[in-house]
Amino acid sequence: VRRVLKNIHQTEDGRVIASSAMRAINLVGDRWTLLILYSAFLGVRRFDDFRHATGMARSLLVGRLKRLEAAGVLRRSLYQQRPERYEYRLTPMGADFFVTAFIILRWEKIWHYDVATPSHRMVHTPCGREFTPRVVCAHCNEELLGRDVTVVPGPGAGFDPRPAPRMNRRSALEAEEGQSLHPMLERSVEIIGDRWNAFTIAMALSGKRKFKEFQETVPVASNILADRLARLVKLNILTRNLYQERPERFEYRLTPMGRDLFPLIASLIIWSDRWLAGPEGPPDIVTHKCGAELKLRLECDQCGKALKPGSAQLPA
Ligand SMILES: [Zn+2]
Ligand SMILES: [Zn+2]
Repeated sequence: VRRVLKNIHQTEDGRVIASSAMRAINLVGDRWTLLILYSAFLGVRRFDDFRHATGMARSLLVGRLKRLEAAGVLRRSLYQQRPERYEYRLTPMGADFFVTAFIILRWEKIWHYDVATPSHRMVHTPCGREFTPRVVCAHCNEELLGRDVTVVPGPGAGFDPRPAPRMNRRSALEAEEGQSLHPMLERSVEIIGDRWNAFTIAMALSGKRKFKEFQETVPVASNILADRLARLVKLNILTRNLYQERPERFEYRLTPMGRDLFPLIASLIIWSDRWLAGPEGPPDIVTHKCGAELKLRLECDQCGKALKPGSAQLPA
């Protein structure tokens, strides 16, 4: 795991070294974006159905749908002429995000299974059973583990602009008033539906432990970083340990639950390499210990068949 994502850095002029993980996190490391995508995977297409499913306020939903459309993840199409009504469908780029969506489901089921959450009892349509996705290397079929993977600079290695601030407080509060249709993948959304959390986890997976090391590599103000580290400790993703007495210094280590977020971050890198790389190619390439460039295969743990987009549904 140590070498994973080693090259997320910021430069003196505020640019950051191009990183596949960071590009993906900038796009989807947002609570509302994740809830919209999750709903889309469950077949939601219309504005009011998205509102109902996610509990988002109208203006917030309008903004996020626009953003996903501009990013090429959703496509808007007219389904009624008078009055004009549009629906939102996943593009091939959006549909390809199913790998990450299934990996989120896997993590949530393994670490936070709750029988009262319909999402956790998702059924694999072909075999009709409740299932937990299994993640393997598509080349050698071995289960994906962080220690078996390295990230090397790709042809698109270079610089990206510093991520711009995005969401304001007000829209967040406004949205909290809503009620979603049913609890979704709340734990994962809480953890990776925040860009700085997701960056911090990616950094921890790359072997960073000390506050200073995080600060050098995550393009974030130190108060935000301190806040996210404390949150991740509270959520049992990281532990905080004293490593020096005078002055007191702490280091942060991933718990087993935190380390198990590796497949999720790996899937984001692969998705980013496929869809967010410019003509020059991806900035990072992930390779598996078998020597192949990492491609993930998802399987149903009940019937062993490959999981496909749309092959799972909520329990009846
Ligand atoms: Zn392999
Ligand atoms: Zn199955």
